[in-house]
Amino acid sequence: MTTSELATRLEKLDRKDPLRDFREQFFLPMDANGQEMVYLCGNSLGLQPRTVAPLLNQELDDWKSLGVEGHFHARRPWMPYHELLTAQMADVVGALPMEVVCMNSLTVNLHLMMVSFYRPTHQRNKILIERGAFPSDRYAVESQILHHGYDPANALLEIEPRSGEDYLRAADIEITIKDFGHELALVMLPGVQYYTGQVFDIERITRAARAAGCAIGWDLAHAVGNVPLKLHQSQADFAVWCNYKYMNAGPGAIGGCFVHERHAGNPEIPRFAGWWGHDKASRFSMPANFVPIASAEGWQLSNPPVLAMTPLLASLDIFAAAGMDRIREKSLRMGRILIEQLQQNFAGKVQIMTPQGDTQRGAQLSLRITHGGPHIQQALIDAGVICDWREPDGIRIAFAPLYNRYTEILRFLNILERILDHHG
Ligand SMILES: *Cc1c(COP(=O)(O)O)cnc(C)c1O
Repeated sequence: MTTSELATRLEKLDRKDPLRDFREQFFLPMDANGQEMVYLCGNSLGLQPRTVAPLLNQELDDWKSLGVEGHFHARRPWMPYHELLTAQMADVVGALPMEVVCMNSLTVNLHLMMVSFYRPTHQRNKILIERGAFPSDRYAVESQILHHGYDPANALLEIEPRSGEDYLRAADIEITIKDFGHELALVMLPGVQYYTGQVFDIERITRAARAAGCAIGWDLAHAVGNVPLKLHQSQADFAVWCNYKYMNAGPGAIGGCFVHERHAGNPEIPRFAGWWGHDKASRFSMPANFVPIASAEGWQLSNPPVLAMTPLLASLDIFAAAGMDRIREKSLRMGRILIEQLQQNFAGKVQIMTPQGDTQRGAQLSLRITHGGPHIQQALIDAGVICDWREPDGIRIAFAPLYNRYTEILRFLNILERILDHHG
């Protein structure tokens, strides 16, 4: 296919794209000449929805005019503010509303979940993670092991890809779970691997963990808003995620947490408690005894940070209107075109780390750049493409279906080709 044939094909796809108009709902970063940049970093920080500022201003106005009365009389009363997020968030992750709560941030929620679901015993005290886990997850897991008086040298089990391979095979994870099953207290894996972009088979691995009698939790930082999820059906014990990546809820946005129905209403599950997790009917009579809300809300600690939650409210409306199915369909199609073009025209210069089957990748493609190193990423930015560089030799690019256009694939490829010719 010639460049002009590709251009025609991509223009047609843009014209017929059912998500085409969603781009107008976001602010696109501009270069020094006032041109919209090609933003391929939605896997790191999603763009700002245009509805965020007006919604935030309403909260600021209500605070200004109502003071404390805003807890009950704001346009969106602040007291139950977190409840406004629950139903739409639950839709995005395929959960029941009672299984989902938006609170804190990812790593905080991961700790809270491990307090409840990492209950090591002499027999069973190991946690299984992947060797290339995101550092924060590893720190969190390791510190939990130490906190319970165990030694990470024994209790932290890390699975890695076979030598010469970039990503884990589900069958190898299953075998590891089976082999160590009677010693494992918890399996904690990512829904989508942050570096390689690999999608994990949540249902299959969850089944293996539960068959081995261990708890299983998922870090969905790179999965939420990227790939369709069916958390309730998966039977996983818990999941945590952030909302500033594909969810576009702003830097350091409020995080999300899933506790499966079979635990969510169980007051016997040990936890770290705070007043916002206490039964709503008696919360303000300030009783001495903690009675947890019979849902994921029972893990809340503090009253909702309204100003931090508003951007997520704006973002969830966009996801509800667009629908995860349409988002996924466009994402897969964009990925297939990119893979095809990279294979045809960049062989020997760019190697695709991400698994290429539809079920094994999300929006992100991780590219190993054979020559040129970090200079390539800086050159890309200078040429109007925002993407990120990960040591030792990786560029991660993510076409976000809500605001990226098909024609930007060609813009990206043309710029990449020019830069590689220059630096390669
Ligand atoms: C982005 C990301 C985090 C970030 O954690 P915060 O607590 O939100 O700072 C954690 N884990 C993974 C896998 C991530 O991709």
